[in-house]
Amino acid sequence: MSHDASAKSSASNKLVIRNIGLLLSGDIEHPILDGDTVVAVNGVIQSVGKEKDFDLSGAATTVDAKGTALAPGLIDSHVHPVCGDWTPRQNQLGWIESCLHGGVTTMVSAGEVHTPGRPKDIVGLKAMAIFAQRAFQAFRPSGVKIYAGAPVLEQGMVEEDFKELAAAGVKFLGEVGLGSVKDGTTGRRMVAWARKYGIQSTIHTGGPSIPGSSRIDKDMVLETDADVIGHVNGGHTALPDDQITELCERSPRALEIVHNGNERAGLLALRTAKEFRQMHRVILGTDSPAGSGVQPLGILRMMSMLSSLGEIPAEVAICLATGNTAKMRNLNCGLIAPGREASFVFLDMAQQSAGKNLLDSIQKGDLAGVGMVITDGAVSIQRSRNTPPATLVPEVVKR
Ligand SMILES: [Zn+2]
Repeated sequence: MSHDASAKSSASNKLVIRNIGLLLSGDIEHPILDGDTVVAVNGVIQSVGKEKDFDLSGAATTVDAKGTALAPGLIDSHVHPVCGDWTPRQNQLGWIESCLHGGVTTMVSAGEVHTPGRPKDIVGLKAMAIFAQRAFQAFRPSGVKIYAGAPVLEQGMVEEDFKELAAAGVKFLGEVGLGSVKDGTTGRRMVAWARKYGIQSTIHTGGPSIPGSSRIDKDMVLETDADVIGHVNGGHTALPDDQITELCERSPRALEIVHNGNERAGLLALRTAKEFRQMHRVILGTDSPAGSGVQPLGILRMMSMLSSLGEIPAEVAICLATGNTAKMRNLNCGLIAPGREASFVFLDMAQQSAGKNLLDSIQKGDLAGVGMVITDGAVSIQRSRNTPPATLVPEVVKR
């Protein structure tokens, strides 16, 4: 699938990645592509294919992948940022940058709910959402893109509030159920208003997450009909098995499995989605920072857990954390394809893994080693400080 949009592109911002050993597309319909070279211009993928078909001259940056695998930058579908690269939940600095070392280049906020003194009045919650959206749009720790500014629904919100939020740039709601709206009728009405103005919604699923929050069961999830069934495996306490399988069967919405959830319930959701041929709806998040901490390798760990115990090919597990999430959340990342954001993670088998190669090592439950991460066409980090060391790492040969 060679596609060369323009041979004479602006050389100044041209990125060439050559000598790719395995091209992981992120697309669950075609997880592995036949190619060894990717060219990006101005942070956007321009062409994907075979080196012999391209003019690679004039690149500002050339990366020799050294035969390692190239995948889209991983997406964490469920984070709870607050302000800057700090979380008051565990009073920790630098957690976002640490996740970059786990291959994550994009995060979606499910609400800035850990903000100390979080305002619950309507003008206050709107102001906080707009502030977070603006602040994280302007602040990208080491290149990580955070879609934040996700207001939590409170009683008394009216249609005009959603119109105003959307006009101000808010694109996502925080988890339904974390505020004072805890019934399906009100949830459904507000989620529909949000959708009308282009704001996507996520609902908390399962038992209470921290003191003060409450249980959301399958009836409220089905009635509210949010776009994403947030942590279908609980965050942390899961619903009973029959409720999880019913959600997989009866709702057409995204099925989000999180690290900060019940792992057995996550496997149940995965197996049910597989049985009903709904794998394209499965997306991954960490739900961090949380009581269980921050998980810099959380998405890589989910991929290995679901691939090894859920018995799905590793290249499919990678799609759950990339192309599936991008599709379900309308993001222009997550796929290695022309026109998509040039954000990538280079993976190789961890040193001394018992696997035969990268994919086999993930299927055996080992974590992949990250050798480099690129965000929007720029090298953000080289060998990860957090993953087990990759056997081979790419090299910047020209910049
Ligand atoms: Zn939650």
